Amino acid sequence: MGRFLVFALLGGALVYAGMLLAGMFRRRLRREGEQIRARQALLQRQEEALHLPGGSPERPIVIDSPSVVEPKAESVQCPICGGDLRVSEHRAEVIDGARLRVARVHCSMCGDERDIFFQLRSQT
Ligand SMILES: [Zn+2]
Repeated sequence: MGRFLVFALLGGALVYAGMLLAGMFRRRLRREGEQIRARQALLQRQEEALHLPGGSPERPIVIDSPSVVEPKAESVQCPICGGDLRVSEHRAEVIDGARLRVARVHCSMCGDERDIFFQLRSQT
């Protein structure tokens, strides 16, 4: 009877340990799955951001004056997290023959950095 009790306890402990391990494994798998989905969602948002107005040199935002570049760029929300964007640099560039204004912005929330492209109406 004493021996049976020891076996029962050992068996119970083993089953319990197995369940704990399985639970840890499941949680880890779920966490990895979430990280992968979060990464995919981030890549997708970055990809979508390229198609927004001003997101690429092919889709510049048309403006009337260079003075609106910075206020316009800062009025855009971060496409990744919805945070506020700050202009760190504003430069003029010629890309594929088009004279563009490029605002380098970074997000004050997630730190994401990107360029927003503008074109003067007089140069379209
Ligand atoms: Zn952000």
